[in-house]
Amino acid sequence: MKLILRGHHLLCLKGFQGYGYSKDFTENMNEINSQRKSEYTTVKLTDSPDDICKACPNLNEGFCQTESENEKIIKMDREVLKKFDTSKEYEAIELFEEIDKIYNTKESVSKICFNCIWHDKCLFYQKLSNNR
Ligand code: SF4
Repeated sequence: MKLILRGHHLLCLKGFQGYGYSKDFTENMNEINSQRKSEYTTVKLTDSPDDICKACPNLNEGFCQTESENEKIIKMDREVLKKFDTSKEYEAIELFEEIDKIYNTKESVSKICFNCIWHDKCLFYQKLSNNR
């Protein structure tokens, strides 16, 4: 199984605990969160709509919500993608181990997560907050 994931969604998946924008979104996110833990799953990284966005009610003709919101989302993706090789297909488990190593303090995610509306539901962000 190959997943297509946008950069910032690597962090969202680490913090996912069953909340989302709609029932379809949450079911799809659950499925992807299981798949990314399989040794048979690989990941290609992107800064455009991915396998998570495809079930999201906010996806609007290829944009996340509006053009200006979309720009902010792409910036978050690119902050993460700076640390990786977008031409490569990663083993999913190794990729998420790398995420744990790179993003291990609240400061390390400051340019990515600080404006996110899911802080109080995100296990990853909460764990980092406690690591400070
Ligand atoms: S469309 Fe936007 S809000 Fe929805 S999953 Fe994609 S990036 Fe997130």
